[in-house]
Amino acid sequence: PSLSAEAVLERLSQEGVKFLRLQFCDILGTVKNIEVAQSQFAKALRGEVMFDGSAVQGFTRVEESDMLLRPDLNTFLVYPQFSTLEGERGKVARLICDVYLPDGTPFEGDPRRVLRRQIERAEALGLTLYCGPEPEFFLFERGPQGEGTTRTNDHAGYFDLAPIDRGERIRREITNKLVEMGFEIEGAHHEGAAGQHEIDFGYAPALQTADSISTFKFVVKRVALEYGLLASFLPKPVAGVNGSGMHCHLSLFRDGKNAFDDPAGEYGLSSLATQFVAGLLEHAPGMVAVTNPLVNSYKRLIPGFEAPVNVAWSTSNRSALIRIPAKRGNSTRAEFRMPDPSCNPYLALALMLAAGLDGIQGELEPPPAIQRNIFKMTVREKRHHKIRELPGNLSEAVDALERDEVMVAALGEHLQDHYSAAKRQEWAEYSATVHAWELERYLDLI
Ligand code: GLN
Ligand code: MG
Ligand code: MG
Ligand code: MG
Repeated sequence: PSLSAEAVLERLSQEGVKFLRLQFCDILGTVKNIEVAQSQFAKALRGEVMFDGSAVQGFTRVEESDMLLRPDLNTFLVYPQFSTLEGERGKVARLICDVYLPDGTPFEGDPRRVLRRQIERAEALGLTLYCGPEPEFFLFERGPQGEGTTRTNDHAGYFDLAPIDRGERIRREITNKLVEMGFEIEGAHHEGAAGQHEIDFGYAPALQTADSISTFKFVVKRVALEYGLLASFLPKPVAGVNGSGMHCHLSLFRDGKNAFDDPAGEYGLSSLATQFVAGLLEHAPGMVAVTNPLVNSYKRLIPGFEAPVNVAWSTSNRSALIRIPAKRGNSTRAEFRMPDPSCNPYLALALMLAAGLDGIQGELEPPPAIQRNIFKMTVREKRHHKIRELPGNLSEAVDALERDEVMVAALGEHLQDHYSAAKRQEWAEYSATVHAWELERYLDLI
């Protein structure tokens, strides 16, 4: 049900909202916002609020730095109060915006635009991508000055019920806030490592999911802060224990019906589903620089920590990049286990969809599903099954992205250029740093 500008204005005054946040994000997924006061609400809803795009990462284009924010009225939401102090300052609402140039054309560097382009491609085929994400994160202690640490204050493990755990209580607070905001929370539980948690929200169309993920991360961090903890979505904050992923449960719908489901097909899957899976596998190395964007992301993608390393699919075991959960009917879906929660959700979903559509349009067939634990296979067995490995670090990942024409086209030249440059810069800084490990290992010895 799409809201009209009048309806939003009315809600704003009914709820006594004092500040309206116009949100968008840069190419790296950092949420930006311009907050306007009551006198500017009508202007904001008309899409007339301007900002200087040259100050935003990846938006730089000196010749056309003035940009307009056009709110997507369907994203209207009033934030809950996070603290009494905030309550005194007045209620805050958000609208997520699309970025336009002054001449009225959509800005090609806007990540939301990149996702919309793929959604339109799918729509032309009568298809809608749904995604149910499973973001994982750690709750850490803060030091005396409020600085972040990697100390946790619980010893619980996966699904443990730990009554005295502060993390559990705070996770419940986070869930409450999300529910208040209209999130449909499917489950929340402790994850494998100490201090690690997961909150799953219901599946929704891709654009809505991307919007939800960015708001979700903000709320989790905000509530944790309130309790003096640090919530981090860093993929591998602690060496030697599980990292944090953001598995994405993907399905395509046609005319309101799950198009992956086919009781007559092998594994109960339609050929559309297997082609989609084939496309994801084909382009996984090319998209990993976007779905797993940090130097640190590649420290999660190693054997032994329930994170994928091998490009393969399976209907049963979790060592593969893609797992097909057992549910069929409208719940038929592919669990894509590669992404981590530090990604820009708009770009990541755009590339997943572009890869899947490429599989469908090229009628690709996936290699046979692997039901064994791939981590236990020898190099030879892997070669025999034609199982490739993902790029091993951010630098290799950017190389793979640049070699993948389908992924480059999906990002668009403008955005891909800026994205590659930013990631190469990040890698160069990392490579030039002398790390604690090197000193520990070599300083005395050499
Ligand atoms: N934390 C694991 C990962 O990095 C996933 C663990 C799980 O959900 N079973 O992907
Ligand atoms: Mg899960
Ligand atoms: Mg999990
Ligand atoms: Mg999962």
